[in-house]
Amino acid sequence: MNPLQFETYDYVIAGGGTAGCVLANRLSADPSVKVLLLEAGGADDWFWIHVPVGYLRCIGNARTDWCYRIEPEAGLNGRSIGYARGKVLGGCSSINGMLCLRGQSNDYDEWARLTGDPRWSWKNVLPVFRRSEDHWRGADDLHGTGANGGWSASACVGMFWSASWRPHNRLAYRDARISIAATTSASAISR
Ligand SMILES: Cc1cc2nc3c(=O)[nH]c(=O)nc-3n(C[C@H](O)[C@H](O)[C@H](O)COP(=O)(O)OP(=O)(O)OC[C@H]3O[C@@H](n4cnc5c(N)ncnc54)[C@H](O)[C@@H]3O)c2cc1C
Repeated sequence: MNPLQFETYDYVIAGGGTAGCVLANRLSADPSVKVLLLEAGGADDWFWIHVPVGYLRCIGNARTDWCYRIEPEAGLNGRSIGYARGKVLGGCSSINGMLCLRGQSNDYDEWARLTGDPRWSWKNVLPVFRRSEDHWRGADDLHGTGANGGWSASACVGMFWSASWRPHNRLAYRDARISIAATTSASAISR
């Protein structure tokens, strides 16, 4: 299509980042709906975008990052530091750490209480989490499988964390396990 020759769309999504891509995917699941997704950055076909810890090459790189800097901050002794934001299809999720950790069940229940909206409760958000997953261990009470384009926790993630956290940092690893165990929802790095 000639990019200057605009057609008519049912939905125009500004920003092909994390939320924009999910939204476009959901909306375009209906073949009768025409969706235009506009992304300021380029394609996500660079090798390092798809490699865990490849973000070290993506952050601060104009190919994938807006390369923002914060204003000099008194609390940082007057320094200005980089503030990474993805400028590429997939947005920040193309340059992030690929870690997935849910909040604690109490947090969601507290939000439901504070907002008076029961849709925030753990009971009601859990099915949404499960529906968006393709968990490598298969489905259970806390996890789901078969999501189209959903995240999947791979064995590789577990290996990466155990290898990097032990044995020199066994205490931190144990503490991390405890704090994550306190998170009612088990997640990618939980075991
Ligand atoms: C370095 C880094 C590491 C992170 N690590 C993790 C992690 O391990 N786990 C985790 O859960 N979260 C992590 N996050 C946070 C998470 O990635 C973000 O919160 C999330 O991706 C934000 O999604 P979003 O859709 O709100 O915005 P984005 O994904 O940033 O999407 C916005 C999109 O809009 C585009 N855009 C902006 N302006 C325009 C314009 N004018 N026209 C067209 N397009 C435009 C941008 O280029 C971008 O693609 C990390 C974030 C960063 C930056």
